Amino acid sequence: AKALVKRFGGGHSLLGGSPLVHAVDGVSLAIRPGETFAVVGESGCGKSTLGRLLLRLIEPTAGDVVYRGRSLMALSATEMRGLRRELQIIFQDPYASLNPRMTVGDIIGEPIWLHRLAGRAERRERVAELLRIVGLLPDHAGRYPHEFSGGQRQRIGIARALAGKPVLIVGDEPVSALDVSIQAQVINLLEELKERFGLTLVIVAHDLAVIRHMSDRVAVMYLGEIVEQAPVDALFDAPLHPYTQALMKAIPVPSPAGRQAKTLLQGDVPSPTAPPPGCRFHTRCPHARPLCSEARPPVEEAAPGRTVACHFWREIQDAGSGALVAPP
Ligand code: SF4
Ligand code: MG
Repeated sequence: AKALVKRFGGGHSLLGGSPLVHAVDGVSLAIRPGETFAVVGESGCGKSTLGRLLLRLIEPTAGDVVYRGRSLMALSATEMRGLRRELQIIFQDPYASLNPRMTVGDIIGEPIWLHRLAGRAERRERVAELLRIVGLLPDHAGRYPHEFSGGQRQRIGIARALAGKPVLIVGDEPVSALDVSIQAQVINLLEELKERFGLTLVIVAHDLAVIRHMSDRVAVMYLGEIVEQAPVDALFDAPLHPYTQALMKAIPVPSPAGRQAKTLLQGDVPSPTAPPPGCRFHTRCPHARPLCSEARPPVEEAAPGRTVACHFWREIQDAGSGALVAPP
């Protein structure tokens, strides 16, 4: 999966304005300062890899990431280290991402020490402040990660990401390991911190319900490619790509029996190491025609700031995608 989705090759530059981060090519997107940009898709679609590529935590096969006008790929290791403070990540599993042998204070204080942002005493104060900011108590600094619940551990991860005064934070499924009731709290916290510190957020998620209320724009990924990009309301009002339409239908709906998945996408995701030719979604798409398995659909601008990669998106726009979903 990694090798393929890392392959950024031959793409398009989509949006005007001055992006904070601009990734080219095969996957092409521009993230604007101060926005929350969501990347959604099923597991294995390459969204986590994309999130790591944006921060140059892994190297792309080809292509580039431009951050504040500078090519990240052109930077030396030393220059990149200088930028690390500004580019942070929050991981899916708050437990695995926290060193169990370090105190919470040391975990949160590490970026401050690493980037020489403060001396010892000031660092302790700053850690206490960060704990308060994420809704924990200053005396939690002396405790260890195992003493905290999943939601609290994710707050610790957020405090660590904030410690270096970042510009951009990538959240890689930041709430999917948490109980639904806790998810909302952590999402609210992220939104609040974004406003307070003027952050730019990239949220990687498989759950459209999670990103709906917190995102400004959304990119939908399938097998390493972005199939649709749109402002969040436009996407939910009228998803244009058959895959996005199917994802929408799979959103759990509240019911007397509780929150349950209404329908599921049929069929497995094909192997990313041998993706189907033409449109990669054609093996699962109810609208597929011969052209779909022959030619890769171009990325078209469907509306200003809105793109879709489907040969027949105009025709199927109002058709829905009932045949894609299993009976309830
Ligand atoms: Fe479906 Fe064809 Fe569009 Fe791909 S290009 S999403 S297979 S209709
Ligand atoms: Mg992932």
